[in-house]
Amino acid sequence: MTHTAKRAIVLLSGGMDSCVCAALAARDYVPAALHISYGQRTEARECQSFFAICDRLNIHDKLLLRNELFRSIGGSALTDENIAVPTVPSASHEIPVTYVPFRNAHFLSVAVSWAEVLGAAKIYIGAVEPDSSGYPDCRPAYYEAFNRVIRAGTKDGNIEVVTPLIAMRKAEIVQLGLELNAPFDLTWSCYRQEEGACGVCDSCRLRLEAFKAAGVKDPIPYAMMESF
Ligand SMILES: [Zn+2]
Repeated sequence: MTHTAKRAIVLLSGGMDSCVCAALAARDYVPAALHISYGQRTEARECQSFFAICDRLNIHDKLLLRNELFRSIGGSALTDENIAVPTVPSASHEIPVTYVPFRNAHFLSVAVSWAEVLGAAKIYIGAVEPDSSGYPDCRPAYYEAFNRVIRAGTKDGNIEVVTPLIAMRKAEIVQLGLELNAPFDLTWSCYRQEEGACGVCDSCRLRLEAFKAAGVKDPIPYAMMESF
């Protein structure tokens, strides 16, 4: 099986989208998983999900890093205790306060560095545009531009960021995950808390709507089950 020699890196936050991406990467490549803690409210829980998903998918190469700069810079509800995570959907089309300034560029840069060393040609990231919070670093044009930077700025210029979920609805991502046996039970999406997902932050809401639209029960525990 010559194809099993091909390496890919997956950015695995521990959420449902990155979990499906990891299952896709594990199907088609020998995957290596990258997780970056950046002082976000639920970093311990997300880290736990990262290791559990890697175990379930038999991903042996793991890289866990800390990035302190977002906490120092602040400006996001995920990293700044003084900015609350909204519990009601935003009425405006503005970028939500949960946006972490230019975060994905930092994560992708780390992945590209590791890919050059590992000889990996693909970097999987679970960015989603429809049914998302509207973060600017989840747009297709951003990834096209980032790939141009990689081609121009790496040794061999042959590394590519791939975004297999970017045009999918969240319910379709759930369906794909079920087909791939992605371990949704091990994922964590809540922005606010680590003991039972809150069910009302943007991330929980999008996730619950996705499972509902897909017609399946979300397997993770919620703190306010009676609401759902
Ligand atoms: Zn939540």
